[in-house]
Amino acid sequence: MPKVGFVSLGCPKNLVDSEVMMGLLARGGYELTPRADEAEVLVVNTCSFIAPAQQESVDTILEMAEYKRFGRARRLIVAGCLVERYREQILEQVPEVDAVVGTGEVERILEAVGGELRILPAQPPAFLYHDLTPRILSTPRHQAYLKIAEGCDHPCSFCIIPQLRGAFRSRRFESVVREAQNLGRAGAREVTLVGQDTTSYGEDLGLRDGLPRLLERLAQLDELYWVRFLYAYPNRVTPRLLETIAKYPKLARYLDMPLQHASRSVLARMKRGSSGDAFLKLLERIRATISGVALRTSFIVGFPGETKADFRELCDFVRAADFDWMGVFCYSDVDNAQSFALGSKVNEEVAAERRNRLMATQKEISARKLKTRVGKRFPALLEGPSKESDLVWEARLEGMAPEIDGKLYLTDIEASADRRVAQAGDIVTVEVT
Ligand code: SF4
Repeated sequence: MPKVGFVSLGCPKNLVDSEVMMGLLARGGYELTPRADEAEVLVVNTCSFIAPAQQESVDTILEMAEYKRFGRARRLIVAGCLVERYREQILEQVPEVDAVVGTGEVERILEAVGGELRILPAQPPAFLYHDLTPRILSTPRHQAYLKIAEGCDHPCSFCIIPQLRGAFRSRRFESVVREAQNLGRAGAREVTLVGQDTTSYGEDLGLRDGLPRLLERLAQLDELYWVRFLYAYPNRVTPRLLETIAKYPKLARYLDMPLQHASRSVLARMKRGSSGDAFLKLLERIRATISGVALRTSFIVGFPGETKADFRELCDFVRAADFDWMGVFCYSDVDNAQSFALGSKVNEEVAAERRNRLMATQKEISARKLKTRVGKRFPALLEGPSKESDLVWEARLEGMAPEIDGKLYLTDIEASADRRVAQAGDIVTVEVT
């Protein structure tokens, strides 16, 4: 059986799809290789959320096409969100590509790799994996992502994810719980729940308070140390959800809640509603309910019609909100997003300058908040030797999600009382110096 090499681009939700496709191929007898130059079949699982992500996907496809021209690769498969936008064009414009697999066609990867499938007619994606679906984890053994839902029903005017991923659909409750247990038994100490909007979990299944109930259940699993979730939608952050996080030590005191903006008029044109004042009240309630909670968010600057005053309002909001972690994106004028039709487009340089100013504001806030931890001790999840230097190990605190937030550098790893050498996945006590 030919060796298959995977490149996975984009978000953790796309990574889970890659892991499912790898699982299906391995069960089908294929050998997976981490080296593109060894692979006889190459699969690029693409992202197409915004223009820079699309460009990265195209560049990666062309890079892998080189291996087909000059390497051992005989087949090149393109999967993921770019296929949902350009399934025919990819095959027309890149002759090295042999087949395309959309986000709803993950389970057809075997036919694509085997040569029985080239392209399927576009249909609204409906695929959802479950706990019996084979999956090969690509993350370190001690942490794993767990997709609890797919798709999205929100009407955010700048976003094309509903077109790429389909309507919101939750996985079955018991299937998610079984998978979390299996991941724990396979060595995961931390499981991070993902979906486009995790806070809507269960609504389509008629489950009231679906996410709090799921978290309550996962908090009973002995195998896990931390359970975390990403992508909360602000108006779905309920008192019950906050109380549940506060009640169970296993539920990380951490909330990732993309707000996108703080100006009422910009939020209205984004079709997200609400305002900075309402968000400040929500943050107050979150902090009052969950002591020591870490807060992450992300914003878009340069949205059509964003005025200097709107941007000032956003800067004032960020200063008042005091987030632990924050990401800022420049608006990307994607031609099949509703916002493409809006007037008063903001110049790209202006948007980039606003992003830099907002990030500079947050850097000061983060630096001040990190300083408050010096001299204190915390439990931390050991990640292992740092990629930056063998002399340093990395770890994360409860308030740090994998890959996107800050991290700890450990300079000396004292052997524990029983002289056992520390390993990745261990929960250790660290003192911040
Ligand atoms: S909630 Fe997120 S994924 Fe859904 S439409 Fe809005 S930005 Fe897109």
